[in-house]
Formats: sequence, structure tokens, C-alpha cells
Amino acid sequence: MKFFLIYFPSDIYGGQELVLKSSLRKMKRKKTQNKTDIDWMRLAMTEARKAASRGEVPVGAVLVKDDRLLARGHNCPISKNDPTAHAEIVAIRKAARKTGNYRLPESTIYVTVEPCPMCLGAIIQARVKRLVYGTEDPKAGAVISPLRFELSRANHRPEIASGVCREECRQLLQDFFRKKRQVKKKKDGRLKTEPG
Ligand SMILES: [Zn+2]
Repeated sequence: MKFFLIYFPSDIYGGQELVLKSSLRKMKRKKTQNKTDIDWMRLAMTEARKAASRGEVPVGAVLVKDDRLLARGHNCPISKNDPTAHAEIVAIRKAARKTGNYRLPESTIYVTVEPCPMCLGAIIQARVKRLVYGTEDPKAGAVISPLRFELSRANHRPEIASGVCREECRQLLQDFFRKKRQVKKKKDGRLKTEPG
């Protein structure tokens, strides 16, 4: 990075050399403070990878308010023996406990996959202001997929943005299911060749 130096006449500024480094630093700080949808979605993808590494379907979510992370969560119904432990529910529960409020106004939830009816219901109940998701879930999605909600009838309608890091989020799912199929194939093959 280049720095620019500005020299002012010494009789006015006492010979001080004003360096713009500090303002450049401030600009840089401001830039890092204001994360974009893509930055937050990348964090949600990190959560999704955690789920995959534990044998759970890779879905991750982060809840953000005032450009700060409130909570994060990944899909973990198998390991928790909890059918409601979807990434969004995990993050919403954590955020509500943290803020001491059963509602999360002015917050945004980033989730790698289109939420299911249960999670969209929780997002509405929590009064989350904005929902940003990555890829569609053609089987269980409740936003645009077959199980979609009639959001116009809901008493709270979150703003919705979709397709943020869509390809990467979809890839996470595809890789997970491909590996799962390969493991199953190997297992089935072994069973067939075993005597008995
Ligand atoms: Zn869900």
C-alpha cells in the first residue's frame, strides 16, 4: 500500500509533517468493521463445515446485530438427539439467552441454506429483521420452495435476500452427500463380498 505525505508551510503548522497514515488506518478500520453479507455468509459456511465434520448435514447460521456477531450455530440434531437443533434455532437460542430477550429486533440471520418451516417460524417469532440465505432447499425450504410460507399473512415479515455465496453453500451440501454415498457404496460392496 502506498502512503501519501502532505507537507504544509512551516510558518503555519510549525514545521509539522502531516502524515495521512492515520486517516488511512481509520479508513481501513472502518472497512473491517462494516462486514458485508458475503463476509457474514462465509462465517456461516465455517459453521456448516463444523456440522459436516461431525457427520451432520452442513448447514450453518450466524446472527448479527449492529455489524456485530450475536451468535453462531451449526446443524446438530443427530449429535444432540434433538430434531429441532437446526443451525438457525441453535443461533437464535444462543442470541436470545445472550441478550436476555426472547425477541431479536434489528438483527440479521445469515444461513447457508433456505430455512425450513420450523426455522422460518422461529425467525418470525424472534422478530429477526432480515434473513439472508445462500442456496435454495428444493425439498424442505419454506421461502420459495414447495413448503413455502404465505409470508404476507405473517404478523412479522423479515426482509429476505437469497443467493449470497449460493454456489459455495450448494457445494458444501453436494460434497457432503457425495461422500456419504461413497461410504455407503463401499460398505454395501463389503457386505456383498463377505461370506455367509
Ligand atoms: Zn430448519
